Parts: sequence; C-alpha cells; structure tokens
Amino acid sequence: MILSRTSGFIAEAGFTHSLTPARNCTFGCSYCYVPTMRVQGGLKPEDWQRWGQFTTYKQNAAVLLRRELRPGQVIYCSPLVDPYQPGEALMPEVLRELIAQPPAVFVIQTRSPGILRDLELLQALAARCTLRVSFSITSNRADVLRRYEPKCAPYAERLQTVAALHEHGIPTFVTLAPLLPCDAEALLSDVMRVSPNGLIADPLHIRATKPRGATTRDIALVIADRQNEGKWFDASFQAALVDDLRTRATRAGRAFATGPEGFSWLARKMS
Ligand code: SF4
Repeated sequence: MILSRTSGFIAEAGFTHSLTPARNCTFGCSYCYVPTMRVQGGLKPEDWQRWGQFTTYKQNAAVLLRRELRPGQVIYCSPLVDPYQPGEALMPEVLRELIAQPPAVFVIQTRSPGILRDLELLQALAARCTLRVSFSITSNRADVLRRYEPKCAPYAERLQTVAALHEHGIPTFVTLAPLLPCDAEALLSDVMRVSPNGLIADPLHIRATKPRGATTRDIALVIADRQNEGKWFDASFQAALVDDLRTRATRAGRAFATGPEGFSWLARKMS
C-alpha cells in the first residue's frame, strides 16, 4: 500500500489519504517530529536511530498508485517525509500516475527548490485536479537555518521557489512551520511579497501544549539551550508570537490560520 487513510490532525483538516513515497528523510531536520513517532509513523528502529542519514524509496510506487487511486480522494503528500528530499528521483513517476488517474485534491508539502524540476508535470496535474503546494519556510535567519536544518535550502532560494511556483500557475501556500528563531516581522513581509495567499503557521511542537504523540526531537532542544533560544519552546512565548503574526497579517489583508484550520485551506476542492 502507498496511500494510507488519514487520522488526527490531517484528517481533521479534511484529507482522506496521505501518500508517503519514502521512509526516512534526508533533510534530517533537528526538530523533526517524525522519528519520535517510531512504529506509529511506520518507521523501523534504524530510521529513528539514524534519522536523516539515509532513505528508502517505494520502488513500486507507480504500480501501487495505479491500484489505489480513486477520483474522490483528498491526498496529503506527505506527513512523514519531504517528497523532494535530497536524492529524490521518484516524484515524476508519482505525478504521471496522478495525471493519469487524478484524485479530487493533491497537496505537496515540501521545503525543497527541487520541486521546480517537475514544473511541467505539476502544471499538467493542476489541469486535472485541485493541486496545491504547501511550502515550508521556517526562519529568515541564515545562522538559525544552519543550526536547526543545515541540509535545507537557504532562505532566499526558498522565497524564489515560492515566487517561481506562482509564476508558473501552481497554487502555493507558505507554511511558517515550525517557527524557528527569526525576525518575525521581516519574515512575514518577505513571504507576503512572494505569495498572494493566506498564511499558515505553527510553532515548534512542545510537550507543554501537546502532551501525547509526536513532538520535537531532543537534538533541537539541545541546540536551543546552547544558543540561549529556549524561549522559542515556551508556550506563552509561542502564543504571543503567533498572535503577533496574525495581527500583522490581518492588518495587511491576509488570512492567517494555524493547525487544522490552516491545513483545511489546502484540502479544499476548487470548484
Ligand atoms: S523535511 Fe520535514 S520530514 Fe524531512 S526531516 Fe525536515 S521536518 Fe522532517
């Protein structure tokens, strides 16, 4: 199986299925919550013990998709890996199957400029179903990105990728999630310049606000502690930050949402 029935957060947002093209993610972000899910995230011990050091692609993805795709599905790709992680070569095959047998909605969650390689296929899919890209931008500070997610693209390149997706007619939302230490005002202003859509945000997952389930990896907490950035993991600081962003975005005429409400914008079928 390559499509899984959704539950929890993603189901609440309106997605019926998730598509995870690989196990383990070579971006290996320090805060990634996926390895903390262990077997519940479909992982093997080598995945959570060596998160980010290798990946395992579903080589029979096309055959599985041909069997499992249905017209009414609302698919999120992916809650467990970045589909355009370094070394990826599978997505063209996945997109071709989706074009041949389109679901109702297909959403790609990524932070990778690598998605631009597939622009023509994305345009073809957008003509067959509701396609959206949800593009993660987590901070506008180069030092922070180097510390917490050193294998991900630099800030300017991510902004350029969002702009290029829009220029090529691919509906794209910026997801400010998780919010790492940043200059929030400048970040918001840059993001609103490259994307005309509403803004989706979420702070780092912390136990204080999420007592069960997936949470931020310990390594991010160690980095934060060393850098005196622990307040970014404090519930009241996070709430104030999100409120501030919401106020600024609303003042600028932009919709702003967090959690399942924000992700429900991605899941809606375009009429
Ligand atoms: S890109 Fe996403 S799935 Fe991959 S390591 Fe980073 S947070 Fe985890």
